[in-house]
Amino acid sequence: MATPATAPPRPLLIKGGRVLLPDGTSPRADVAVRDGLITEVGSGAAALGDEETIDADGRLVLPGLVDAHRHMWLGSLSASAGDVTLFPYARQVNEGLGDPFTTEDVYAGVLWGAVQALDAGVTTVADWAHNLGTDEDVEANVRALDDSGIRARFFFGGKASSSGDPAHFAAQARRLHTAHAARGGDGRIALGLALRGPSMAGPAENEADFALARELGLPVSVHAGMAGMPGAVDQLESQGLLGPEVNYVHANAFSAREWELIAASGGTVSATPTVDLTMGLGSRLATGPALAHGVPVGLGADTVAYGPTDLFGEMRLVLAGERAQANAEAVGRGEMPSELHLSHLDVLDVATRGGARVLGLADRVGEVAPGRAADLITVDLSAPHLDGFGSPVLSAFRGAGPRDVDTVVVAGRVLKRHGRLDAALLDHARAEMRRSRGRIRARSL
Ligand SMILES: [Zn+2]
Repeated sequence: MATPATAPPRPLLIKGGRVLLPDGTSPRADVAVRDGLITEVGSGAAALGDEETIDADGRLVLPGLVDAHRHMWLGSLSASAGDVTLFPYARQVNEGLGDPFTTEDVYAGVLWGAVQALDAGVTTVADWAHNLGTDEDVEANVRALDDSGIRARFFFGGKASSSGDPAHFAAQARRLHTAHAARGGDGRIALGLALRGPSMAGPAENEADFALARELGLPVSVHAGMAGMPGAVDQLESQGLLGPEVNYVHANAFSAREWELIAASGGTVSATPTVDLTMGLGSRLATGPALAHGVPVGLGADTVAYGPTDLFGEMRLVLAGERAQANAEAVGRGEMPSELHLSHLDVLDVATRGGARVLGLADRVGEVAPGRAADLITVDLSAPHLDGFGSPVLSAFRGAGPRDVDTVVVAGRVLKRHGRLDAALLDHARAEMRRSRGRIRARSL
């Protein structure tokens, strides 16, 4: 189909909004975009000639949000498991619903997942893809990301149920790597490997998995540091497998020594607040220790089968979770906290620049600045819950959700305009998702 991703982008002039700048200020400014890049930010940015003008008066212009961990194939399975802990969740969703996925179900799930993310102002995702049994499944996952227009690092993880077959996984990864290079390498979609890691596999398996990633020169992402699964980083360290290319997801229960090892090795962390705080993975978010140790940290929605599609809500959970932790520590000393150490701007930074660093894309996304990719959103501040007296950034932080995201631009292409997603993309994605849901429900009978 003809998707937004195939249409040539017109230059854009986003006029008259309050723009969140890299220094944390949010003056009224215009943003000019050409060839997918931000060319100018400032008052009275020059007209470009043939541009589309987007009126941002009464709106906040933010860098597109970066989701640092999301299983995109679950898009079609949203709200399928709400009140379960991790292992029953895995049985119910990954095995029960996910195992029988066809190639068409993969395409529909990822495409709908991308639509959910874009609608909520998420312009870049770390897609942790672990339900891909065949090369056709892999191709469908990549094609869905591409068709949606979203930016992604596609962490390929084979099929969880067949991960006991490392030769199959390695062969798939090598073919994907070759096909990716043939397409010109990392453009809007970059590659990585989603590995089982030390919490899910033994030392020999990790040795082989990490050797494959290093052979292919790809970053890796592992779920690690969940409650009841201690010693993951210690294990990797004993095998010489730590490094700056390793991303740890959840990281709720790492020891002080493990945090020091991650910091010293240059690794990164993805916190997934809804899942971390409510699914029983630990009582502690990774954001606090990561920021304290200087470890790059981003936020992810993880699974829409269990949690929401939106990162504004995840940001608010971070502030609540971190302040609750500080509060509990003070109360434990018989004190009331006298000051707050984490601001809403700090958390917004985690959900933009932090995620960009986690994905290895910090030189391209995460900031509204000349030379960066034109991955931008506007938030309409006119609704009663956002029309505040004070800071527009604080208003959006405290109350915004997907319905308030007015404009979404990825690589200079407008994918949401006046609060509505591109109609061709939305109609196509919805039709695919509904057909897939019909098949999934029929198989579940
Ligand atoms: Zn996950």
